[in-house]
Amino acid sequence: MPETLRPRVLVVGGGPGGYVAAIRAGQLGLDTVIVEKSRLGGTCLVRGCIPSKALIHAADRFAGITDAVGGNALGIALSEPPRLDLARMVGWKDGIVDRLVGGVASLLARARVRVVEGWATFTDAKNCTVETAEGPVEIVAEHVVLATGSEPVPLPALPFGGDVISSTEALSLPELPERLAVIGAGYIGLELGTAFRKLGAAVTVIEAADHILPRYDAALTAPVRRWLTRAGVELHLGARVAGRDGKGRLMVETTGGKPIAIAADKILVTVGRRPLTAGWGLEEMGLDMAGPFVKVDDQCRTAMRDVWAIGDLVGEPMLAHKGFAQGAMVAEIIAGQRRHFDPASIAAICFTEPEIVSAGLSPDEAAAAGVEVTTATFPFASNGRALTLEAGSAGEFVRIVARRDDQRILGIQAVGRHVAELAGEFAHALAIGAALEDVAHTIHVHPTLGEAVCEAALIGLGHGLHF
Ligand code: FAD
Repeated sequence: MPETLRPRVLVVGGGPGGYVAAIRAGQLGLDTVIVEKSRLGGTCLVRGCIPSKALIHAADRFAGITDAVGGNALGIALSEPPRLDLARMVGWKDGIVDRLVGGVASLLARARVRVVEGWATFTDAKNCTVETAEGPVEIVAEHVVLATGSEPVPLPALPFGGDVISSTEALSLPELPERLAVIGAGYIGLELGTAFRKLGAAVTVIEAADHILPRYDAALTAPVRRWLTRAGVELHLGARVAGRDGKGRLMVETTGGKPIAIAADKILVTVGRRPLTAGWGLEEMGLDMAGPFVKVDDQCRTAMRDVWAIGDLVGEPMLAHKGFAQGAMVAEIIAGQRRHFDPASIAAICFTEPEIVSAGLSPDEAAAAGVEVTTATFPFASNGRALTLEAGSAGEFVRIVARRDDQRILGIQAVGRHVAELAGEFAHALAIGAALEDVAHTIHVHPTLGEAVCEAALIGLGHGLHF
């Protein structure tokens, strides 16, 4: 007889959405089981956010050292270029992942959550079987939280395998490809392409849209594009990959109509991610769908009573912190709290060179929504801290978008080195419904990049001090 568990809460998927839902449910005293087929931490910890940022940091260190060969503007000179041991770098990155995965296991244990390792398959909305190493386990739960996440989308003409890789393989390559082709200039492709360029690979980026990072406006992406050009990354915009020729080269159709062939040692396909909806019995559960995603309301309830869905499975933005927020919220609602999900303050970051942060509405989005706005921009070239960090001379800036009538902040964006760390301030301003005055009257520490946010707010009020 298979073992049968009857928890109050069953969470399927141990990524950011699922593990946070389970920890919070456990903290609130709910008898909770989490099922994970692979490793706790999901895409984010194991093959996404954390390993990519580790590699991006290591590549930046390598590029900084390389820059000193023969002497640089800071007066640092090296006579020999550095040598790269990619396997060791990947090992260092794996160490960080292992530590965080272990941390998630400890947090779940502390919250008294039972972890079942295996693949869950549902026979109806509240019943699933998990094939574990010790045999099948049946789980019948009062509440089910679906957090199965997402997977990379393949190109029909270039299925994954061999030299065609997804971000997962790119994060664990044993050696540096001499030539890397990146298909798709979204944030994942450009973050990884930038890192590999910094490590010394020749990088070619092919993008179907006519601009990089299609979700961001041209002002924000211009400094990134400048860096790519300066670094020698070959960019083909408005270009489509049709397949491969007899020599294995990528056949690319360009807007000019001229086909080109691109030779590469590895082809990294980053054309998007899709929710993981197949292979676990979703069709048996009677849920409504919203396109490829599971449909939920603003409390992450599905069409089936006491079945909840969170994270990448329920739609854009497919970001870890959205999953964290939804996971915690669902656990609290199950425990009887009154909560709903407000996506207004979810910021998104591109860890490119330089970085981009965007929270709330851009000027174009506000105009499209018919809102009259004041847009205030402060350049990092006028921020002392940016100059001390070599971060202010390529057109980087902070921009605040506020309603013209009551000066309520609708959006904040920035492009520049290290601006990722400003994301919390941007999200906080939106979450509390701050007006320009609130930010302008907050005394920002000197010298920091954050002063640029305060200065942008002052400009919005019509009396900038340092610009
Ligand atoms: P996932 O993290 O995908 O976790 C789902 C888990 O469910 C998986 O572990 C899977 O094994 C398990 N599972 C699925 N079905 C079953 C089943 N039937 N039985 C048992 N287990 C199952 N986001 C950011 O916010 N910031 C970043 O910087 C960032 N960088 C990224 C970089 C890369 C290269 C990639 C690929 C993604 C990045 N993301 C980033 C996105 C982020 O990783 C995802 O948004 C996040 O992981 C989604 O969390 P989730 O809990 O919804 O799903």
